[in-house]
Amino acid sequence: MPTPDSETTTSLLRQIPSVDRLIQAAAGEEGKSPIASEYLTLVARDVQTEARNRIRAGEALHSDHVEDLMRQRLGKLASGSLKPIVNGTGVIIHTNLGRAPVSQETARAMADAASHYVPLEVNLESGNRGGRGSEVSEALQYLTGAEAALVVNNNAAAVNIVLSALAHGQKVVVSRAEAVEIGGGFRIPDVLRQSGATLTEVGTTNRTRVSDYEDAIDEDTAALMKVHASNFVILGFTAHPSISEIVNVAHAHKILAIEDMGSGCLIDPRQFGLGAEPLLTDSIGAGADVVTASGDKLLGGPQAGIILGKKQVIDRIASHPLARALRVDKTVQAGLVTTLRHYLRGEATETIPIWWSISRDLDWLRSRAVGWAEAIGDARVSTVRSESVVGGGSLPGRTLESIALAINLPHQAVDTGARYLRTAVQPIHPRIQDGAILIDARTVLAGEDEIVVHGVRQMLGQIA
Ligand SMILES: *Cc1c(COP(=O)(O)O)cnc(C)c1O
Repeated sequence: MPTPDSETTTSLLRQIPSVDRLIQAAAGEEGKSPIASEYLTLVARDVQTEARNRIRAGEALHSDHVEDLMRQRLGKLASGSLKPIVNGTGVIIHTNLGRAPVSQETARAMADAASHYVPLEVNLESGNRGGRGSEVSEALQYLTGAEAALVVNNNAAAVNIVLSALAHGQKVVVSRAEAVEIGGGFRIPDVLRQSGATLTEVGTTNRTRVSDYEDAIDEDTAALMKVHASNFVILGFTAHPSISEIVNVAHAHKILAIEDMGSGCLIDPRQFGLGAEPLLTDSIGAGADVVTASGDKLLGGPQAGIILGKKQVIDRIASHPLARALRVDKTVQAGLVTTLRHYLRGEATETIPIWWSISRDLDWLRSRAVGWAEAIGDARVSTVRSESVVGGGSLPGRTLESIALAINLPHQAVDTGARYLRTAVQPIHPRIQDGAILIDARTVLAGEDEIVVHGVRQMLGQIA
């Protein structure tokens, strides 16, 4: 005899609507579904499977719930989820929120290139085939002093092709303190192995001397490599040779000096109260043969891997077979050159969003947050001192004083309130700290104030 429970389960399972019924339900009143009919059947079958599993797990899903499920799944499938979100976290280069947003002008250039034909490999004067990426290289040469440049998909790809082209079958010397993991599985020892090079680790975790590098060099050594340990700091009894000391040793032994800088900084962040960050110009100025960096960390451009250095060395890298596999498309070329032009014009701190955020001062941030609080006009909001960080593996351990809007809710409503903000039509990603929901005034982009005011008011209305 079935128990009453299993009877209910059986009857619920029997009520699961047919594929045809689900498709009809999805079409709504106008009889028009958001996706083409050949895919509707697949979605309907998945919804039936989900319903069966949930009913068997004890949920009382009735046929109208299952129809709702169908409509929800179709809604998601048809409208996509990578839409803009306001960054209230205080983390400027937030990896989970897509790292650096590009400037308005850069975004327009990328959209224009994407939706039109562009003279990517045509010399318009002669009508003949022209150099791909020459505009980007020229801008990078002026900005950094490098003889030549090559752009690939991201910095991980840049390090990979550099080592494959220059050190395959040979040894590369790296300090033990710099044989690091950057995140997302990018580990320097693994990348070296993958490119066919052998890692020679020298020194200790906290101290490496120039002589450690010197002693490790033999006839199989292709290069000395410095890696910017961008996502952690070792404090105390430490010593690490500078890039110019490494360059001197490498060149005395007629081998290459390579630096993986990571963040790709062109502006000294110390002027904004942050710590020192190695600049691309420092490494090129010190005579490094090859320097690699990300396009979407402190450079503030689209995702890219930037390879700079001596012309002869860059030519070797560019002619490696991986160059074709890792090359960037027209939208990245258009975006990168537009971002670099902001630096050439000397306007980067106003036009590049991450530098705009880094360079806002405390008075400005306070009046912004107070303005939000006044416009919201609710006793549950106030402004508080906050701390922002650069993030994205840049300037670890360094913070920037900031001001945040604080939304003070009863303890049990905090998570609900934060979820409401994150899933709103115009979503906001806040930070939860000391039991309050914070929206940091530094990371909210210019022009997003109205979204914050409206979003918080709507949320408070729901919570009340
Ligand atoms: C971030 C980083 C990388 C990886 O760069 P992506 O652009 O994320 O591929 C490699 N090396 C260093 C030192 C980094 O900081």
